[in-house]
This record gives sequence, C-alpha cells and structure tokens, in this order.
Amino acid sequence: MKILIKTLLIFLISSSCFSQDASNQPKIKYHTEKVQNYLDKEKSLSKFYKIDNEGISLFASSVDKKNNLIEYHINWNQLTNFNEALKTYPLDVIKRRFVNGKYQNKPNEIYKREKSPTAEKRLKGFKIAIDPGHIANNFVIGELEKKHLKIKADSIHGVTDSIELAEGMLTTATAQLLKEKLESEGADVFLTRTNDICAFGKTFEQWKKDDFKNAVDSLFKIKEISSTQKEYFLSKKAKDRDIFRVLFKDLELAKRAELINKYSPDFTIIIHYNVDETNVGWIKTSAKDFNMAFVAGAFMKNDLSTKEKRFEFLRLLATDDMEKSITLSAAVVKNFENTLKIKTAKINDAKYLLEGCMPTSQNGVFCRNLQLTRFIHSPLVYGETLYQDNLNESQLLNMETDKTKNKRVQQVAEAYFLGILDYTNSNSN
Ligand SMILES: [Zn+2]
Repeated sequence: MKILIKTLLIFLISSSCFSQDASNQPKIKYHTEKVQNYLDKEKSLSKFYKIDNEGISLFASSVDKKNNLIEYHINWNQLTNFNEALKTYPLDVIKRRFVNGKYQNKPNEIYKREKSPTAEKRLKGFKIAIDPGHIANNFVIGELEKKHLKIKADSIHGVTDSIELAEGMLTTATAQLLKEKLESEGADVFLTRTNDICAFGKTFEQWKKDDFKNAVDSLFKIKEISSTQKEYFLSKKAKDRDIFRVLFKDLELAKRAELINKYSPDFTIIIHYNVDETNVGWIKTSAKDFNMAFVAGAFMKNDLSTKEKRFEFLRLLATDDMEKSITLSAAVVKNFENTLKIKTAKINDAKYLLEGCMPTSQNGVFCRNLQLTRFIHSPLVYGETLYQDNLNESQLLNMETDKTKNKRVQQVAEAYFLGILDYTNSNSN
C-alpha cells in the first residue's frame, strides 16, 4: 500500500512538472482575453505587455520589450499572493517587492479576509468608501466646476417652474443618505468629502489661500504646467475657473484616490448624476434618460505613458478588482433600473460610450479609463444615473432645497443600497 502511494505521489509530482506548460494555458488565455476585451481600447498597447508561459510582464517601451528589459513581472504562481497582498498592504510596500522588476512572493503572510454578511446586521465588518462626485455645495461653485444646470420656466414645453441644479449638491445628499443606510446595517463608511469641504479637508477658497501657490510650484517642477502658465496663475489675472479646471480638479481627484486607498475599503461607491451630452449648455430639457456605470479599463494608445499608469494596468490585469467591479456595478445598475424605472444605457446611447468605453459582459456596465477608476485599489462602481436635464427628471430633482429630502435622490440612494446588498449576498453564497 505504502509503495503504491509513493508511486502515485511520484507520478503526480512528475506529471505536474511535465504539465507545467499546459496548466498555464487557461491563465494565458484568460488574461490575454481580459486585455483584449476590457483594457486595450484601440488595440495599440501590445508593445507594453507580454502574457506567456512565464506570467505577465510590463515594459516601458517597445524597445525594452524587444530587449526583454522588464519593468514589472509576475509569475503565474504569484498571482494569488499579489492579489491578496495588494488588498492588505500599502502600495509602497507592494511596489518595493519588485526586485529588478520581478515580483517577490512573501510566504506566510496574513491577509485581509473576504467578509460574509451575518444574519443580524447584513453589512457588519464591511468597510465601504463613498465618493460624492464634484465639490459644489452651492450654485456658485457648481457654475465654477461647470456642473450647474439652469432652465427657465417654459410651460409650452412642459417646464412649469424654473429649474436650478448643481450635481455636487445631489451627489452629497445621495452619499449622506446611503451612508446612513449602510451604517444601520453595520458597515463602516468613509466619505471623501462632505458639503463644501473637499478631499483636502477645506473649501476651494481656503485651498486657494493655503495650498494654491505650492501646487503651482510643484506642477511646474514636474513639467505639468509651462512657465507661461505658471506666470499666469501667480498673477492677479488668474481666473478661478482656470485655477479650478487646470490645477485643482485633478489634484483633488488624486487626493480622493489617495484617501480611499489609505482607508483600504472592501469596495468603493462613486456617485454621479448624468446629463444628455448633446444638450450642451443645459438651458433646455432633453427627452433622454438612462442609467449606466463605469469600471476601470479601456486604456487608449497614450494611456501607458508613465510607470505609475503601467503599474495600474498590471494591477487591473493581474488582480480580480475588475471582475469584482463588474459584478458590483451590474448589481447597482440592475437596481437603478428597478427602483428608478429608467432604462439602462446601451453602447450606442451616448458618443462617449462608443468612443471612450468598452462594453463588459454586463448590461449597462462599461470600462472607462477615468482617474478614479484607474487609481482606486478596490472593487468599485462609478455610477452615472438619471439625466438631470431630462424634462421629467429635472423637475423631480428640483424639488426641496435640502436634497436629502428629495424623493428622487432618496430613491437613488436606495438603489445603490439594494445593489450593495445584492453584491455582498452573491459574494457570500
Ligand atoms: Zn459627474
């Protein structure tokens, strides 16, 4: 008997050695298709990566690829470790594990475990980050960030009262309502901003006083802005609109991603309200109204220009963040449609979907390489619901000064909440 077991063991070990190549085939196929279907929008990025029997490699350029000068490499048997370690340890720790580009496994580490909801509180133990899109807490800031909509009363076209909305005010109210619901189910919730306090922990006005000059200097140093731009921004002529658009917006988004990653959530909810892109100016209503959600992916040909961006490409390819984001987003979109009674968008329903996105296997869920979908290291849903300029929607959203009391906003919060419950339930089954 002993001999039989020994022979069997030797056979198993040796056969697994011989089948090394064959056993990697499903992984090679899966990851190659993942790049083609979700990450490489213009079929132009193959010079930056290699997926073969050795694992996944990233290169800084086509010349480096030719000379096999790897920037990042992960073996197939390191994928699980990389995945779990990224969810557990800070990014700089993970990045230091690449020695001469090659990822080094750390054996016997303790990882953050997947949670499963318990009976009494359905979200007990979950850490959830919520990012309310934009910063406006009033129409002046709404106008500054061009997320402001003003429509005159026009009874002939069915607009009975004048309408004024700022998307940032709707997202803040939605986030507050959603936070309460999640906390009542035992979740720990982190908000990237509240009311007029942005991710820097202060108002835009205060940021200008405290941090604006430093931001100009450091962006000039890393050549993000020219000397002419620097001169303009430090002069009295600098307009708030330009300061917001060129400097503040991206820095503040980066800060949001940094805060979320530091919090290390189980997943992240990014809340936005949409508009009809063809109705620019948003001074009249539109007939369109759709729900959709974005996840990471759909990199364009110039989107792997820095080492930082290439790391995110590797992360999205080698971890299950994208797969989980798609599942979470599908659950949220399904509840948008059920709760709000608004249709889910197809790829032909907007130009940016067709030109800037890649469809996923799930209805209404699209890959899009946005700053937040790219830099947040957790499963996420970037929700875009309700066209604020839709004839019916604009009038519903216009009700109540305190938007947490608005029925439509309350329904949106409920839809996110139900989507989250569906997602966490499906994970535990
Ligand atoms: Zn938005």
